[in-house]
Amino acid sequence: MAWWSELESGLAAAEAEGQRRRLRTLETANVPVVRLDGKELLQFASNNYLGLATHPRVVAASQAAAARWGTGSGASSLVTGHQGIHAELEDVLAKSKGAEAALVYAAGSLANLGCLSALPGEDGQVFLDKLDHATLYDGAKLSGAAVDRFPHQDLNRLAAQMKRSRAAGIHRIVVAVDAVYSMDGDLAPLPQLLELAQRYDAVLVVDEAHSTGILGAQGHGLLEHFKIRSWPECLVLTGTLSKALGSLGGYVAGSRVLVEHLVNRSRGYIYATALPGPCAAAALEALRVIEEEPQHLARLRQNCGVLAQGLTGLGWGPQDAVTPIFPLVVGPADAALALQSRLSEAGIFVPAIRPPTVPAGSCRLRLSVTAAHGDAELAAVLTALGAKP
Ligand SMILES: *Cc1c(COP(=O)(O)O)cnc(C)c1O
Repeated sequence: MAWWSELESGLAAAEAEGQRRRLRTLETANVPVVRLDGKELLQFASNNYLGLATHPRVVAASQAAAARWGTGSGASSLVTGHQGIHAELEDVLAKSKGAEAALVYAAGSLANLGCLSALPGEDGQVFLDKLDHATLYDGAKLSGAAVDRFPHQDLNRLAAQMKRSRAAGIHRIVVAVDAVYSMDGDLAPLPQLLELAQRYDAVLVVDEAHSTGILGAQGHGLLEHFKIRSWPECLVLTGTLSKALGSLGGYVAGSRVLVEHLVNRSRGYIYATALPGPCAAAALEALRVIEEEPQHLARLRQNCGVLAQGLTGLGWGPQDAVTPIFPLVVGPADAALALQSRLSEAGIFVPAIRPPTVPAGSCRLRLSVTAAHGDAELAAVLTALGAKP
């Protein structure tokens, strides 16, 4: 069929530009030393930042939940899929975030799609940071609202855009940002963003995929990091259960009326089977482990410090130790792939990231560290990388 041969040439063209991606198969859990396509490798590629995906308490909670709630939830939440374990998780998530209420989705990506698509309405306006996660952008597009992106972290530009929208009489303005940018590791300037949202009567959506469990004294996220103690009325948080919480699933946290609105209007919520109980239970137990065993976050922070200092010393910086994401920017796609293969020959896997995930010319290795990495493993990656050429 002509269709398939056209797709084939598209793939060949991507191959020629060093842009074709291929799946690799992991034969182990997502731990520091993995077996990947038959080869044992020390990996710095995971978002299982606290190592909780294999924590005995988290695994046991998930097993017990499979026995109690079944392996699948059997229906969408509004039909019969909303089980006691979901209600309990929503309660704990809301408390952890300091929000009035929370709603659990079957994935973080669905939470973003389902939240953004249901917020502004067709006559609204969404502003997104250029480096926002793709699912925020896709959700905004699905809403039918006007969608504009501002240059990364350029709040002056954002303020000018918001002012123009208000002057044009646009009633509903949504600003959506990542709490931690997934490929760069920098933070959203929450206090300034809240100030802008309040000034222009906008809703601020913050995607906490890489900050939940990581930022703040106790890992509660971006609000705790900035020591904001009372819930800002204009704020909506989205996030995932699949990174530091070691499970799968997503959530939105905010006001009770927001959550009620999503239950009634969010297609990503209404038309998806509810998260399986074992996933909900794993995330719930992970949240408890984070409260009761602060050593995991402490160890992660120690590892971040070692890498930030080591990488900066080797010329791969400046890098800071605030998040476990370290971008090693090399520029062209082939340079990123070459560095990835050089490390792979040394037995280390750090993934090359290319367009469209990052802008062309800013290809990089995205090195992420977890609490499960040991001192010798950190030393090994620094030695293998060596000084930046
Ligand atoms: C991973 C990620 C998501 C999607 O979450 P899933 O649970 O994997 O679907 C959303 N936003 C950001 C910033 C992410 O990194």
